[in-house]
Amino acid sequence: MHLQIQTSTLNDSCRSLPQDSIVPSDQQVCDCVLLIWREEPATEDIGMDQLLQKVKERYLEWKVSQESLQRILSRHNLYATDEGSLRVYSDKVRIPTQGDKKLTLPRNVTLAECSGEKQRGLFANGYFKQGEAIFDDMPAVVVPPMEKLLLMQTGKACSLCGNSVNHTAHSILMNGLDCGECQAIWCSKNCKKGDITHSSLKHTKSRIKQINLNGWFKYERFCKKNVFEAAYSFGVIYASILIDKNGKEGILDKFQPLCEVSQRLRKQLSDSNNLGGTLDASSGAISSEDPEPMWQEAYKLFRLAFPESEEVTMETYLTYIGKFNINQVAGQIYPTYAFINHDCEPNVRYEIDDKLRLKLYARKPINKGEELLTTYVNPLHGVNLRRRELRVNWGFLCHCNRCKKDLTKRKEQLHAWIAPSHCSPASSFSEQSRRKSSMRSARPDLNELLKNGQEFDLEIPEDLEGVHQKRRTSVRFDNKVSVAVEE
Ligand SMILES: [Zn+2]
Ligand SMILES: [Zn+2]
Ligand SMILES: [Zn+2]
Repeated sequence: MHLQIQTSTLNDSCRSLPQDSIVPSDQQVCDCVLLIWREEPATEDIGMDQLLQKVKERYLEWKVSQESLQRILSRHNLYATDEGSLRVYSDKVRIPTQGDKKLTLPRNVTLAECSGEKQRGLFANGYFKQGEAIFDDMPAVVVPPMEKLLLMQTGKACSLCGNSVNHTAHSILMNGLDCGECQAIWCSKNCKKGDITHSSLKHTKSRIKQINLNGWFKYERFCKKNVFEAAYSFGVIYASILIDKNGKEGILDKFQPLCEVSQRLRKQLSDSNNLGGTLDASSGAISSEDPEPMWQEAYKLFRLAFPESEEVTMETYLTYIGKFNINQVAGQIYPTYAFINHDCEPNVRYEIDDKLRLKLYARKPINKGEELLTTYVNPLHGVNLRRRELRVNWGFLCHCNRCKKDLTKRKEQLHAWIAPSHCSPASSFSEQSRRKSSMRSARPDLNELLKNGQEFDLEIPEDLEGVHQKRRTSVRFDNKVSVAVEE
């Protein structure tokens, strides 16, 4: 009888890799880490060794060492021992030349140059007490919600704002809220009047020769299919500018002066296209790894829709896409609000009503000459996520006071764990901090925020809103909500 001798490892600690161990791609590693960070914000503070452990918990078969993990994250701008080496692109964000066009701004604010990294900002012309309304802003042109195109086409939602229409058929007719030429209806006379693109973009023959309707329908369908909201929105804005040839509505004057940067550049420095990634996440953008083919196709269809738009080259097109993305709020361009710079502890807050009017309020007392500051990201996010979102989407590293404070506090906490006074050999640092971080991850940043009774606008994701009555709602974040969250 032939005897076979086999050696098997019984000890867990020197367990060999599973047979089918694979070397993950950089992208896979980044996607995984970003998702871990998103799901457990406290893990942004742990060491590489622990992070590797977390990764391996998810992907047992991955062959990745601590060094390679660190190398991959550094290469993709997700880790740096010195944060100054993280790549940013705020210096590439451009203010278009204005010519001799004068801006029309509300009288109580001024646009002026800023010191430091920021190029310009909006300043108070007088004193505002806490809670005081500062100004109202309407979209440069209302971009109808792309996801409701079908409902709007078939007369099941307002053709401009996308809200459901509660009037009876009779009352729609009596009030002249129907189109007459197509199935479209509007929720109010205001929406009907404001829908300047309707007859040029929705009927079988466009009223103006610069728009090829067949091309536009293809473009619209393509954007919708690919959830390319910025392309669709820019298309609507571009069409509106053509329709507003004489500048009566001032659409070009409102859109033109806003900052711009190429989407290509933003994409290069984005963190991931996957869940956990932050680039344009507010507009639902999770696209393929290489968006180039999609951009090319979108551009081709754009040119088909607007045959006389020779001045829009592929690169200009991408700059407009980037421009829309860095300036939009809830899918609209608010021409005055768009000038306000960011701070993680803003002195203004806004609300958008169901007529899409943005109302700006002082969140704190603001003195004459003081800069108005809003937040571009959800202020409830932890410091690392906030700063990553800002870096990826707007290209700068936030050095606001709140970020500085938060970062110092996190460092101190980390130190406190590293040097515990009564520490048995068994409860090593890694174990302790793991326990603490998992405790903290359950409610990572709420306490930090709430203890001062600070109010923040909390964005409610659309899918929680049920029937999409409003495109975006903001609520005050105060102690009542904190109780609800803790429950
Ligand atoms: Zn409406
Ligand atoms: Zn119509
Ligand atoms: Zn900050």
